[in-house]
Amino acid sequence: MSADRLRTVEEQLAIVLERVRPLDGTRVPVAAALGRTLVEPLRAAVDIPVFDNSAMDGFAVRFEDVKDATDAAPVRLTVVGDLPAGSPLDPPIGPGEAVRIMTGSAVPSAADAIVPFESTAGGLADSLGEITVLAAPRGPGAHIRRRGEDITVGGELLPAGVELGALQLAAAAAAGVDDVVVARRPRVAVVSTGSELVTPGRPLERGQIPESNSQLLAGLAEGAGAEVVLRLSVDDEGDGPARAVVEASALGADAVVFSGGVSAGAYEVVKNTLAGAMEFAKIAMQPGKPQGFGATDDGVLLFGLPGNPVSAAVSFEVFVRPALLAMQRRTELHRPTLRLPAATGWRTPPERRQYLPAAIDRSDPARWTVRPATAGGSGSHLAGGLARAEAYAIVPADVDVVQAGDTVDVMLVS
Ligand code: AMP
Ligand code: MG
Repeated sequence: MSADRLRTVEEQLAIVLERVRPLDGTRVPVAAALGRTLVEPLRAAVDIPVFDNSAMDGFAVRFEDVKDATDAAPVRLTVVGDLPAGSPLDPPIGPGEAVRIMTGSAVPSAADAIVPFESTAGGLADSLGEITVLAAPRGPGAHIRRRGEDITVGGELLPAGVELGALQLAAAAAAGVDDVVVARRPRVAVVSTGSELVTPGRPLERGQIPESNSQLLAGLAEGAGAEVVLRLSVDDEGDGPARAVVEASALGADAVVFSGGVSAGAYEVVKNTLAGAMEFAKIAMQPGKPQGFGATDDGVLLFGLPGNPVSAAVSFEVFVRPALLAMQRRTELHRPTLRLPAATGWRTPPERRQYLPAAIDRSDPARWTVRPATAGGSGSHLAGGLARAEAYAIVPADVDVVQAGDTVDVMLVS
């Protein structure tokens, strides 16, 4: 590689992922597993449905008895039992008999079809005693949900490597599962650097700004399934970053995410104090060109992201999030992407891949478009524009300009 050739995003990500060590699995209750990553397949503990049950409120019948029922030739049946949901009964049904049944109740062994209230003369109002069936069910099995038609005991509901969301956990619960084996949550320390940074809400003196990257990076880390064990700011003077690594290690951190102090200025405190453990490289991306990465002797990953808020956000997406997901043994490390036409044109940097904070215009459902989230364009200092961003438009290094109507890749992050 020539000295001035920038490293590609893929090359840098490969270096990062090479250092990732997968975290151990741990068994947790389904109720506590939201956002965790399965590391063993999820298998059903009971059939879904658990037993043959009625799909309608109505009557369990012998199909033979009602197969010729019509408005003109109704069939009269005697109701010999009643099955509310949860009833353990399995009443016998003789010729000319029916049992009233509610949705979800177990279908009696003697019945092979359900006649809904809508197909009887009296409906619910006249449903105990004698009923008059005005229409035949479509055939044997009508309105019966069969045991195991969704999944049977031992069947795989989900493979290892997927995130457990509310829907996945609902399926686990429905299949009688009470605990799942998931990856331990990565423990992450978030360390902001910069002598100009002040806790948000405090009065600002000349030269000071609110510290926002720790909010950003802690939120993104939690969104990637991590637990934030340390969040602090250090000055540009002294050895704050090195001390932060010691403190993070003592807290069992798996990764330390620094922001700021990695570029080419005079006071690059991460670069100056952690040069032994980290490598500082230039990546062909914008924003996010200066990146630091390394690990301690104990294998704690050290990320040195550039300090501009947009740069830090993009760098997290591109390098830190995939690493945190890989630790959790997630199969898919990347955000979903769409290809959308640009609503307006914008300029792109030469020979670097652009990640532009973007908003999606959904006003025409048949033709979504993408536009820059910041009025000022791609400036990585435009932290307020992050408020409107829900995606990054990704423009290849060899594209010089995006024109309105051009199709671009859009990485969804919300
Ligand atoms: P640096 O990478 O340290 O040169 O920082 C680049 C720019 O990002 C500077 O304007 C910093 O003031 C700003 N910046 C760095 N860290 C933070 C932070 N934690 N919160 C808000 N802005 C920051
Ligand atoms: Mg700085």
